[in-house]
Amino acid sequence: MNKKLIATVLATALVLGGCASKPAPTTNGGDSASSAKPKVGVTIYKYDDNFMSFVRRAIDTAGKDKADLIMNDSQNDQAKQLDQIDTMISKGSKSLAINLVDPKAAGNVIEKAKAKNLPVIFFNKEPEASALASYDKAWYVGTKSEESGILQGQLIVDQWNKSKDKWDLNKDGKIQYVLLKGEPGHPDAEARTKYSVQTIKDKGIGVEELAIDTAMWDSAKATDKMDAWLAKNNGKIEMVICNNDAMALGAIASLEKAGYFKGDKYMPVVGVDAIPDALTKIEAGEMLGTVLNDAKNQGQATMDLAINAANGKDVLTGTKWKLDDKKAVRVPYVAITKDNINTAKDAYK
Ligand code: BGC
Ligand code: CA
Repeated sequence: MNKKLIATVLATALVLGGCASKPAPTTNGGDSASSAKPKVGVTIYKYDDNFMSFVRRAIDTAGKDKADLIMNDSQNDQAKQLDQIDTMISKGSKSLAINLVDPKAAGNVIEKAKAKNLPVIFFNKEPEASALASYDKAWYVGTKSEESGILQGQLIVDQWNKSKDKWDLNKDGKIQYVLLKGEPGHPDAEARTKYSVQTIKDKGIGVEELAIDTAMWDSAKATDKMDAWLAKNNGKIEMVICNNDAMALGAIASLEKAGYFKGDKYMPVVGVDAIPDALTKIEAGEMLGTVLNDAKNQGQATMDLAINAANGKDVLTGTKWKLDDKKAVRVPYVAITKDNINTAKDAYK
């Protein structure tokens, strides 16, 4: 009844005000949605992730003028994230940008979006292809995971060939390595682990794995692992391979405590991401190299697609991105050493 009354009053006001001089910016035939900023619901799997904090910043920058962003920290809890999605839908989100906690939960998210005919852009944690294919309004923004492993392996090979006289401590021609892995089951962690070692072998260099374990992408956990490995394999480790820079920095902290990077005591450490703290270590000669995981462009692409979708447009309208046959935008990785460090600096500005 109340609603009816309001409608009548509004209609009357419109008729009466038809020739009034006062501008009425948002009463233009109910077309206001296209001029107002659409609500876009965003989740980050946890704010307490080094790399994701840069992606989040890129999302904020790319989205702030064009959308009304609802940002959520899912605190590494998939159930919490699903609740956040319900809330964002009820608040009127026109599209969702979802960094899953559990890469296997895409189906649950799609179910919720589908029920309201809402587009979803997943980013950073790649959903299974079958989940993405099950909904025509679902897309992915990320990378080609194995590319980072291949580039990391290639970087190790190039640097090893230059310095093996010093680095091959036991003179057996092989690389005795330890590997710090990201979250098990995460497509980036699995692919990096597999392809970095595979690439070294493919280039004809023998390897021996002294230790491998997950440190869940996390610096402090990596320091603990590295402390234990150094104690156990003292003097035998010749290379530290890390699935990301946060863990590489954690390993370097452990190595520093053990007296490395002073005088002749050196250990080659490689990561992935090219976050600013890692670039500082590369410049200081305490980190061999990394692989640029372009946070800025991934955040930008996520927002470009999500905002287009929220406005009912084709997701690629007015953008430089391309979709592959899996409905994914994949931002390229770049191998980074001291020599081309500026490439990485630009990507994190
Ligand atoms: C990054 C990691 C990050 C992870 C989060 C990866 O692509 O390399 O640093 O922790 O994404 O999902
Ligand atoms: Ca060796």
